[in-house]
Amino acid sequence: MVGSEPADEIRERHREARERARSMGPFRAWIDGERVEASDGATAETRDPVVDEPIASVPACGPEDVDRAVEAAAAGFADEWSEVTPAERSRRLFEWTDVLADHVEELAFLECLDTGKPRADARGEIEGATDTLEYYASVCRSQSGDQIPAREDVHLFTRQEPFGVVGQITPWNFPAWAAAWKLGPALAAGNASVLKPSASSPLSTIRMAELTEGILPDGVVNVVPGAGRDVGQPLTEHPDVAKVSFTGSTAVGRGVMKAAAERVAPVTLELGGKSPFIVFPDADLETAVDAVAAGIFYSTGEICDAFSRALVHEDVLAEFTDRFVERAESYVLGDPLAEDTTMGPLTTRDQFGKVSDYVDAGRREGATLLTGGGPPDDPALADGWYFEPTVFGDVDNDMRIAREEIFGPVQTIIPFGSYEEAIEIANDTDYGLAAGIGTERTSLVHNAAADLEAGLVYVNEYGPILPEAPYGGYKDSGIGRDLGQEALDHYRQTKTVYVNLDDPSL
Ligand code: NAD
Repeated sequence: MVGSEPADEIRERHREARERARSMGPFRAWIDGERVEASDGATAETRDPVVDEPIASVPACGPEDVDRAVEAAAAGFADEWSEVTPAERSRRLFEWTDVLADHVEELAFLECLDTGKPRADARGEIEGATDTLEYYASVCRSQSGDQIPAREDVHLFTRQEPFGVVGQITPWNFPAWAAAWKLGPALAAGNASVLKPSASSPLSTIRMAELTEGILPDGVVNVVPGAGRDVGQPLTEHPDVAKVSFTGSTAVGRGVMKAAAERVAPVTLELGGKSPFIVFPDADLETAVDAVAAGIFYSTGEICDAFSRALVHEDVLAEFTDRFVERAESYVLGDPLAEDTTMGPLTTRDQFGKVSDYVDAGRREGATLLTGGGPPDDPALADGWYFEPTVFGDVDNDMRIAREEIFGPVQTIIPFGSYEEAIEIANDTDYGLAAGIGTERTSLVHNAAADLEAGLVYVNEYGPILPEAPYGGYKDSGIGRDLGQEALDHYRQTKTVYVNLDDPSL
């Protein structure tokens, strides 16, 4: 379904919105507590995906800027942050989240304009980012080491120490949330960060960093925007970056790991997915449709843990498919700045091309296109990267549309006949980020949760994602975990101290 606004209204609203966004700038790199240009003055435009117009120019940084930022981070860590007590770190992180909470609308506006996601979703994302930082501000003070009672004549204990400078790289789909997932545990553990946002949607991350001014010491948070090869790669290769955390595609993640391996730096990788949702025959179909639709159409399907394979038992296949197609057709495509829009455009021209190519591949491979399949037939949306919610039936798990990450609003429906077959198809993928289960039977929930090869299992719902719980993938979907205590542990190293004790006689 498309919104009912005329093209000129949308264009005018976006002209004003881009002007408003520019007035919040200038958007620059944030290094050592200052807004700075790229060393060579290079800039790149970030674009509004609704009308394909430039929003703002942002520095296109390079290796020299990475050097500058790493130097600032090392100084910020050594001079101040490493000396700050956990209680003080916690207080300052809370102070930052208070400021962010005062800027939710502004940050959500930037996120909505830069990524094209509906305003309400962008607001939810910023609130999620703030909540994540609050969680790490809270747990910061409650960390401890161990005392190990191995022998009476040795006082044996562990200290948890930060790495120093950590390099963090984020993708374009949830820029603010990803930044909080990275910065929260890194700063709580006492590290300083150099963070590279995606060149396609850097605005909210830059603004979040600017809002640390006067709260966090200079150099503790640095944001260096630019292209992957110019900023991401030098950051992963930098000898003074002691730990790397990356969220993005599996292909780039492999390269990041190789670069870090050269100097034996630990890495956390949050990568792609091709997550199944299994609709068992006893499932409440309305609940299952809700979960699978949210899992593939939320954020225009640009979600790493998208339920992009719906595995449906043959007894309920026809009914589920009918209801799911009806649901897909009920999304309101329109201006993400308008509150009644439930699906915005894809974020970039490249992503639009990629999703279109996969739909062509699905048709060629013999899947049946049940709805969608291209841009909506509405002249008001013709300038943007809109793609209709798309559903393929008669999908075989060997088809490319079932094996490769599309990262768009494209669902594949795959039938199964038995529990064993469902689990086999679900696990027959290189990825292992998330999996979902639709059933009312407790034994199915627990058996499937144990048998599925995935880092996350959602039962009768898509999400929620809470900062208290570890998040990450099996197999090609990654290494290590974001969120929860586990992420904090990734940003610390353990030192074991043996204090040999003399005989206490005087
Ligand atoms: P991408 O891999 O193209 O880019 C991710 C980041 O890496 C960007 O900032 C990019 O500029 C940078 N980069 C590119 N080349 C680099 C290099 N050689 N060295 C270092 N950095 C480099 O991914 P994307 O297209 O921005 O995001 C989509 C991908 O991210 C999808 O595969 C999605 O599944 C994944 N993702 C995963 C999670 C998760 O938590 N598992 C969350 C969000 C997105």
